[in-house]
Formats: sequence, structure tokens, C-alpha cells
Amino acid sequence: AEKTLILVKPDAFARNLTGEILARFERKGLTIEALKLVHTPRETAETHYAEHAERPFFGELVDFITSGPLVAAILSGNDAIKASRQLIGATNPLEAATGSIRGDFATLVGENMVHGSDSPESAEREIGIWFPEL
Ligand code: ATP
Repeated sequence: AEKTLILVKPDAFARNLTGEILARFERKGLTIEALKLVHTPRETAETHYAEHAERPFFGELVDFITSGPLVAAILSGNDAIKASRQLIGATNPLEAATGSIRGDFATLVGENMVHGSDSPESAEREIGIWFPEL
């Protein structure tokens, strides 16, 4: 089965929506392979979002993702990457379908609740960042 890396971002964690969000992935048929609460070091956030280093919003992105605890998970299942991104919805919550996590719970692109890997290469890289012990 394919693996993907999910982050329940600090906005979702602070709003006590971690269980609701993980339940949606489980109901889809994905399996939690690893799960942890993380107080994210700045360097980890910068490594995770390295592809956005030159974007004007990079500083805010790193500030946000380190603003409080988050929950990192490895999920597995059939087409786990595509299945997860379908559940998460479009990057901008105002363009995300109703029924998706972002569509149902968020309004701001900078506080959009969840991250999911976008390719097998990204999943492998991100699992290494958030679960270096595995
Ligand atoms: P993620 O990588 O978090 O799963 P994504 O793959 O849907 O999100 P990316 O294009 O990789 O979207 O952008 C990474 C993150 O950067 C987004 O989740 C969002 O929070 C933030 N971001 C993207 N565009 C903007 C923007 N214009 N202004 C502020 N933040 C942005």
C-alpha cells in the first residue's frame, strides 16, 4: 500500500479538530501507521517547506506552522496520496469543495488545517523529515 505524510496543522489542533480530521481519513479506508504530537522546530518547518523558500509568504508560513503543536501522521492505503488530497481539498479553502476538510472548516489560505504529500517522492522526503526515527 502507498504511504503519505499528513500534518494536522496548528490551527486545526488548536480548534480541537484533530480527532474529526483523523476520523475522516480512517473512514476513507486509510490506516494510521505512525502518529505523534510535535512542537515543531523552526528548522524542521523550513526544511518541510523548502520549495517555497523564495515566496513572499515563506516567513508567515514558517511562523504559522511553528505557532503551536501539530499532529504528524503516516497514513497508508490504496492510492493514499491522491485519496488524502481529495479529502483535504484545494489549497485555498474558499475554492475547496464542501465536504472536504478545507471546504468545511477553513476560510484562509494561510490557515488551511491540513497538509498532505503531493507525490510519492514528496511522501518519502516528508516522512524522513517528520519521522526520522523510522
Ligand atoms: P500543503 O503543502 O500545506 O499541503 P498545498 O500543497 O495545498 O498545501 P502549496 O502550494 O504546497 O499548497 O502551498 C503550501 C502552503 O503554503 C499552503 O498550504 C498554504 O498554507 C501556504 N500558501 C500557499 N499560497 C499562499 C498564499 N498565496 N498566501 C499565504 N499562504 C499561502
